[in-house]
Amino acid sequence: MFDETAGYDEIITLRDIPFQSFCEHHLAPITGFAHIGYLPKGRVVGISKLARVVDTFARRLQIQERLTAQIADVIQKVLQPEGVAVVLKATHGCMTTRGVHKHGSSMVTSKMLGCFRDNAATRHEFMTGLNI
Ligand SMILES: [Zn+2]
Repeated sequence: MFDETAGYDEIITLRDIPFQSFCEHHLAPITGFAHIGYLPKGRVVGISKLARVVDTFARRLQIQERLTAQIADVIQKVLQPEGVAVVLKATHGCMTTRGVHKHGSSMVTSKMLGCFRDNAATRHEFMTGLNI
């Protein structure tokens, strides 16, 4: 599952991973993109595996905040990098169809672990690179 980093010790970012989930309150679709960053500590993981993590948790009924945290937590636990950052930007069917009609609005959630939580410069580098 893991490859050695060959000395690579900068942030790795996988952005614009499309996902679809369903809001557990309204059973309405949550559609958006996940952005994952991590700072490797000795090993890296294939990008398809990161995308699969997103799909695995998105497949359940969710709230976006929990989905964000679950993705970050499992990557931290399995890969054990210096830190993980997960940002989700999504539109909620329950916002666009249930009488609220806020078309075009989206919700952004983030979960920062390790160095992304502790180090403002690292977090800033990641967020600036996303440009969302
Ligand atoms: Zn909802």
